[in-house]
Amino acid sequence: MLIDLHSHTHVSDGQDSPKELVEYAKEAGVAVLAITDHDTLNGWQQIQDSSDSLQSNRELTIVPGAEISCRTSSGMSVHMLGYLFDPHNAPLNELMALTRDDRIPRMQKIIELLNRADIEVTFDDVVAQSGSAATVGRPHLADALVARGVVNTRNDAFTRFLHNDSPFYVGHFAPTPKEAIVAIKAAGGVSVLAHGLAGSRGAIYEISEIEALISQGLDGVEVDHRDHDDHSRAALRELAASFDIFATGSSDYHGAGVGQRLAMEVTAPEVWEGILARGSGIEVFTV
Ligand code: AMP
Ligand code: ZN
Ligand code: FE
Ligand code: FE
Repeated sequence: MLIDLHSHTHVSDGQDSPKELVEYAKEAGVAVLAITDHDTLNGWQQIQDSSDSLQSNRELTIVPGAEISCRTSSGMSVHMLGYLFDPHNAPLNELMALTRDDRIPRMQKIIELLNRADIEVTFDDVVAQSGSAATVGRPHLADALVARGVVNTRNDAFTRFLHNDSPFYVGHFAPTPKEAIVAIKAAGGVSVLAHGLAGSRGAIYEISEIEALISQGLDGVEVDHRDHDDHSRAALRELAASFDIFATGSSDYHGAGVGQRLAMEVTAPEVWEGILARGSGIEVFTV
């Protein structure tokens, strides 16, 4: 049984529409898929809204979720997955709305910095890539740089210009990881730290700092993720075992076009059962 608890649609920075994502997940034989767009619920909500009219065999279980963009007091970027929280919870929705809104001036600042270094790209280029996305992010800018011929791939854009420690990096409004954990749980949800030791993305947590998040209510850590090496996976697995929190695995799929595969990493059925039992803000649904 393939259980994949982290994926994106073009409602944030994924490449597939929500409908396509469902189609591809079924083709890949996925049984349980969490849709966790950055700071928006609109991707899985589109599927839920249209699911009654879909001719469907209901073989895929969708887990409503989100990936909340956070920042620590020392300025480190952290992503917090939330599952099964009440989608109508006002504080959590306000927090995501503040982040989405601030991503627009933030994008304009990054573009200004690039322009000052004679790298030509405009906000309109980014909008041409983000389309109707609710959440504008660096991957859209990366795609705009590819379209302009400045770089060859999304990854090249991150390596050369857009990574977290780059001189062109600008942050956006973001809650602290603790604030996100508290908001997710207050809404009946389950909180899981996404790719907590993914060093290729920039600064990462010390294990002791993740222990502090656990004492603040963190329910789990993503262990099996393509950006974790064996050493990081072992450290996180041991941490999860010693604190009896969930250890998950997931694809963090953004699209086949960026070289990712649904269910390339997966979560154990008993871990998923535990998450399902703990979440109380909304039910899963099938398509
Ligand atoms: P943003 O939310 O605009 O700060 O962009 C964050 C997203 O950019 C992440 O969810 C990843 O999809 C992508 N990303 C971040 N760092 C890298 C990197 N070093 N290489 C490739 N993609 C990255
Ligand atoms: Zn993303
Ligand atoms: Fe992430
Ligand atoms: Fe993600």
